Amino acid sequence: MMNDHHTCYGNFIELKGKLMVLLFIIAGYIFVSVVLYGLMKAKCKKDPVFIMPTEKRIFYLLSVTWGFFTVISGAVPAIILRILGIKPAKYGWLWRFEIPGIEWGTSFGLFFIAPKGNDQISMHEHGHAIQNIYLGPFYPAVVWLPSVIRFWYRKLLKKRNGPLRKKYSDIWFEKSSDESGKTFIEKFKKEQS
Ligand SMILES: [Zn+2]
Repeated sequence: MMNDHHTCYGNFIELKGKLMVLLFIIAGYIFVSVVLYGLMKAKCKKDPVFIMPTEKRIFYLLSVTWGFFTVISGAVPAIILRILGIKPAKYGWLWRFEIPGIEWGTSFGLFFIAPKGNDQISMHEHGHAIQNIYLGPFYPAVVWLPSVIRFWYRKLLKKRNGPLRKKYSDIWFEKSSDESGKTFIEKFKKEQS
């Protein structure tokens, strides 16, 4: 009986220790994300902040290693889209799922979703994939989540108050994505022709 009690208590201590480690990791992740957010925001005056590597292999290698979380988080949407019969096609160095009737896009590192025939949004989403190879595991907290929240917040504001004063690209991560994507795709198209 005594021993059982001891083991149980020991397990509790162990669990508490594990929880503390987990909390420490989460706090560290949030801290680094906030610092990165501030740094990138300050650096954004120099355009474009995120430049595509000249080697295609480097881009893919960084996407599946440092930027792995972003790529893997797109697995479920990619499978769903394939089941729905939407096939991705190459766009720049990425794969694009074009969806008719939507007015937004989202990037998952190696592929992205965009409205059908919208080159501006496609270039922008390609820009987010370039951000991903720099920000890696911090990309979801530094760019993806703020971007999604801001998009829906703006939609809500527009519905309530009418036209918005600030432009979509008035925030560093959208502005930098516009610039990185446009610079890369223009160069890419020039090389193709
Ligand atoms: Zn964006």
